[in-house]
Amino acid sequence: MTDLYRILPAELDELVAGLGQPRYRADQILKALYREAPDSLDDLRLLPAPLRGMLQAGGYVVGAAVEVRRVVSEDGNTTKLLLRMTEGTLIESVLMQYPQEDGHPRSTVCVSTQAGCAMGCVFCATGQMGFERNLRAEEVIAQVVHISRLLRQRGEHVTNVVFMGMGEPLANYAETLRAVRLLTDRRAFGLGQRHITISTVGLIHAIDRLAEEGMQVGLAISLHSPTDELRQQLVPTAGPNSVHDLIAAARRYFSKTGRRVTFEYALIDGVNDSPEIARQLAGLLRGGGSHVNLIPVNPTAGGFGKPSRNRVMEFERVLRAGGVNCTVRVEKGSEISAACGQLRTDEANATIELAELMKLPVVPVHGRRQSQPFPAPSPHQ
Ligand code: SAH
Ligand code: SF4
Repeated sequence: MTDLYRILPAELDELVAGLGQPRYRADQILKALYREAPDSLDDLRLLPAPLRGMLQAGGYVVGAAVEVRRVVSEDGNTTKLLLRMTEGTLIESVLMQYPQEDGHPRSTVCVSTQAGCAMGCVFCATGQMGFERNLRAEEVIAQVVHISRLLRQRGEHVTNVVFMGMGEPLANYAETLRAVRLLTDRRAFGLGQRHITISTVGLIHAIDRLAEEGMQVGLAISLHSPTDELRQQLVPTAGPNSVHDLIAAARRYFSKTGRRVTFEYALIDGVNDSPEIARQLAGLLRGGGSHVNLIPVNPTAGGFGKPSRNRVMEFERVLRAGGVNCTVRVEKGSEISAACGQLRTDEANATIELAELMKLPVVPVHGRRQSQPFPAPSPHQ
């Protein structure tokens, strides 16, 4: 079986030609897949029945993610979904919305690229659950298409995609790249390459390979420490010189692509959040034009906690004073366990019925909701 959502437009042209059909049939299929988000091959009503029959006979299917659970933050701007893929694999996707002046929100979808993760970062819920399997490109697309369909119901659309959900995207390189190509091909999902960011724990060879792809995709590297000793405690799979090697790889990425790399830094109370460590980090990154994104850690089962607000502000101040650009990531959705892997972990422990859960968070609390609620998932899903 082949999911039509994994086929690039150029490949679809060949497929359609091979079936003795005119090229515009490929465009019709693409339009149906990416504008209408059909549930199955039967929903491709635009296509003549014999062509649908040929596709069916050839083993082509239209895959879809099944929504198992949905949690919405109090302000309505963060929606976290637990989705079931084929073979029953459970993964998470998050929609983060930022109101904009023109009234149309920026709508960023955070996708998973693996079920679980083999990297074992100690503060990460996904890392702690271990590695299950790589997701295929069509399963990454299914996440975006599912959310895109939800957004369309209220006249909005996906504006950005970040590969920051469960898993290490560069450890699943070929499928991640295929997903990026599907998302950015004008005849497929059609997002600008600059509207895509891949976050990596730092696989050097894969970063260099990505730099050679001739794309304008943004890159974020999860650094978390200015020293190798501390980094290896947090990221057990990191090599002995990973800090130096990653900064060098980020420079190469910038010189090849013209896109500056962001360093992500999960701030953990009492572990990597001291002013002295901030000074060390500034010393390393100064002058490189790098940008640091500070993420106060979302507490997980590992016992790591978020630093106090003052401590976060002090870290930020020292970095800035040291000549390094930085921002503190708005703690979106921590009350709904939005950090990577947390929803699935919670689900494993959950005893409450799905229907009951659905009722809970979708209701606006304290009247602070800014976004319109989505309709509940349809019963057939
Ligand atoms: N594997 C990739 C992408 C997925 S993780 C990577 O590590 O970059 C995306 C980001 O979420 C990473 O920067 C990661 O460090 C961060 N993250 C993981 N667990 C977190 C937690 N509990 N709190 C805050 N950020 C976390
Ligand atoms: Fe994997 Fe990223 Fe989590 Fe580390 S932070 S375990 S690399 S998903």
